[in-house]
Parts: sequence; structure tokens; C-alpha cells
Amino acid sequence: MAIQNNRLTAEQYEQNFSDIHPPFETQNAALVEANRCLFCYDAPCTKSCPTSIDVPKFIKQITSGNIKGSAHTIFSSNIMGAGCSRVCPVEKLCEGSCVFNLMDEPPIPIAKLQRYSTEKAMENNWQLFERKPSTGKKVAIVGAGPAGLSCAHVLSKEGVDVTIYEKESKGGGLMTYGIAAYKVTPQFCEEEVNYITAIGGIEIKYNQELGKDISLAQLKKEYDAVFLGIGVGIARQLEIPGEKLEGVVDAIQFIYDLRAKGYPTVPVGDKVAVIGMGMTAIDAATQAKRLGAKEVTIVYRRTKDEMPCTQHELDIAMLDGCEIIWLAAPKKVKSEKGKVKSLVCSKMQMGEPDASGRRSPVDTGETFTLEVDMVIKAAGQTPYEKLIKKFNIQHSAFKIKTDNCATNIKGVFAGGDAVNGGKEVVDAVQAGKDGARAILKYLKLC
Ligand code: SF4
Repeated sequence: MAIQNNRLTAEQYEQNFSDIHPPFETQNAALVEANRCLFCYDAPCTKSCPTSIDVPKFIKQITSGNIKGSAHTIFSSNIMGAGCSRVCPVEKLCEGSCVFNLMDEPPIPIAKLQRYSTEKAMENNWQLFERKPSTGKKVAIVGAGPAGLSCAHVLSKEGVDVTIYEKESKGGGLMTYGIAAYKVTPQFCEEEVNYITAIGGIEIKYNQELGKDISLAQLKKEYDAVFLGIGVGIARQLEIPGEKLEGVVDAIQFIYDLRAKGYPTVPVGDKVAVIGMGMTAIDAATQAKRLGAKEVTIVYRRTKDEMPCTQHELDIAMLDGCEIIWLAAPKKVKSEKGKVKSLVCSKMQMGEPDASGRRSPVDTGETFTLEVDMVIKAAGQTPYEKLIKKFNIQHSAFKIKTDNCATNIKGVFAGGDAVNGGKEVVDAVQAGKDGARAILKYLKLC
């Protein structure tokens, strides 16, 4: 067994990481699907979208050939509508609410239609929003992820000059660095950032980390308001022996390397264990398989009923040949000559419900061993504790506490994963919009 890179040919990498949800092949195919929509007056699809995209309206615009209008409808509610059409778990959002599900018929492929319109807008560089004349107000945003970009776009539209400070060398946040490459490519993410900022009035300063290259005090002094869209970024540790061995890696780092450095450069084992069952765990497991791992086993300490990923995501992992072991918790990583040799797991069972009705897994005392040469940790992420402490920002378990997006520090607002602990990209986009509205009110611009 060995961890190695460059396992496949260029063609195999290309094939394994190609678009998982390909677009409509013809205009007619899009029209056929758009014409199935019933244009429901109470549109449950819109109600279940965190950014409240007017779904029947944008689909109607497609049927009448008004693609520009359709893209405008989408981007008015969600400026990252193109990216969201590729990464949103639509089966639990808009498409999951489509009335066709009640008739046991396939739902309208809302995401694919959304991609159809927004992709055309981006390809043709249709600039659908105009920036108001400058108000002279300046806002600093920390983080060029979905929350920061969405906040920046709303503020810029209203004539506010925005400077985004981003710690990485590219914008897009988790869209760029933390999502499987077969959903969105780094190139698409870069194009999306450029498309959003093309409105003008938004400058992104890259390689600028809060607490290292810039301080909150400095931003407060130089700008009229600050928005923190810093996300969550530190991988939760397993706190088990052997965690530091060569061959134990963090899922976010693994996905980041894949996207930032290229598929052939990223080493993967023959037999890989992935700890966790969230979307990041699934993305890491499927990509390990697509990089050439012979066996990938996902280990989860609860049952299928509690899994945080969607059934659709689980299906992708299973179709890729990943094995799942439910009710198992990692106990120890064993090594040989300093390298991972096996993973010892405890067998768990679900305990009695606590006061809140939630059942937790309980160790049965029995164990089993998986022979693996690589362990990928995807047991969630923790907020930036040190940063939050350093700036005396009020928090709850290090999730920033806000009141209508305002933190306890005057003029400092926050939104997205740093506040909610980590949700979908579309939730972060809405949080950015909410943050921008709160800032506009604070600056007396609305
Ligand atoms: Fe169309 Fe389905 Fe939405 Fe109704 S619920 S408007 S049919 S997409």
C-alpha cells in the first residue's frame, strides 16, 4: 500500500473530474423543460430558496426567449446565481419543493435552467446592473467568499466604494477552494468573481489576512463600516492517537490542493478512510476515488437518519464505489515506519434521546480495524477562535453574535458561515445581502 500522486493518465483525470451536472445540450431541450413549469402563483420553489429567486418568473422569461431578463431576475436576488446553479443542494431546496414531486413526476430542473440563463449572461458579459453615483462612503469587507462578494455587490450598486481584503490569492472562498472540482472548476470561480466585480467600485486586495496583514482597528479607522465574511476555516481535530501521522490529512486541505495545485500533483492512498458524512466528506471521498484510490470507506458515527449530506450526495459517493460504515467512530490511527497502516474504530449505537429529543451515539466498547494507508478528516470545521478573541467580538461557541448583522463593535457587521457556523453557499449570499442592507441603514443611505 502506498500514497502516491500521478496515478492516472491526463485523459482519465479529465474524464473523472468533468462536469457532474452538464448543461442543456440544445436550446430546445431547455425550452421543453421550461415549458413544463406550471408557474405556480405561490411558488414553493421560490419560498424554499434562501435568496428568494423568483423561479416562475425567470423560467417564464426563458420560454419567451428573454434570456437577458431571465438572468437579471436571478442575479437580482442572487448575484452568485451561476455558481449556485452548480453547487446548491437543490434536491432539498427549490427542486425538492417543486409541485411535480407531489404528482410523482420529475421536478422542473430549476438549477439547470438557472445555469442556462446565467451562463449565457456570463459568456456574453451582459452587465445587467448599473452602479449609482458615488456616495463618498467607503466600506471594508473581510473575505471574498460568497457572503463578502454578495455584500460588496449590493453596496456597490448603491454607490458605496468597497475594498475586499482576502487572505487567499483568489476570490470565491469555499466555492473556489472547498468544493469538488467536478461541480465548479477554479476557472469558472475566477470568471464569476470577475463578473460580479465588473460592476465597478469594488477592489479586491489579495493575500491580506485579518490579524496578520491588516487589523480590525486599522479597517475601522480607514472605512465608514466593516463587514466580516471570514467564514469558518479550521478543521475540527479528531483528538485521537495517530492523528499527526504522515497520511492523515484534512479534507478541506485535500480539496484545496486538488483545486489549487492540479489533480496529478495530489497524493492519494490505495485504501482511504474518510471521517464524517457532511458535504465536504462526500466531496473528499468521491475525489479520492476519482484520483485513483482503489478503496474509499466513509466512516460515520451516527446512522443514515442523522447524516448531514443529502441523499443525492450519498448516491454520488456510492455510485463512485465508496463504501459506507455507519455507527463507527475513529479511535486510533496505527502506523508502520511512521506511516498510516490502519484505522481502529469503535462500534457505536444510538443512545436515548436527551432533553432536546436528540439522540447521540454511544460507544459499545467493541472495536474493528480498517486496513488503510490514508485517513481524510472531514469532521467539520471550527470558527476562527483566536481572531474572535483577539478583537473581542461577542460570540456563541465562537460563532459571531449579531443583531441584525451588527456585531458588538460599532460599525462592524458580520454574516455567512462565521455567524451561522457553516451553511450552504446560497445562505452566505443571502447573509451578504442582509449585511449590506444593515450597513446602508447604518450609513443612512436608505
Ligand atoms: Fe414551476 Fe415547480 Fe416552481 Fe411550480 S414549483 S413554479 S412547477 S418550478
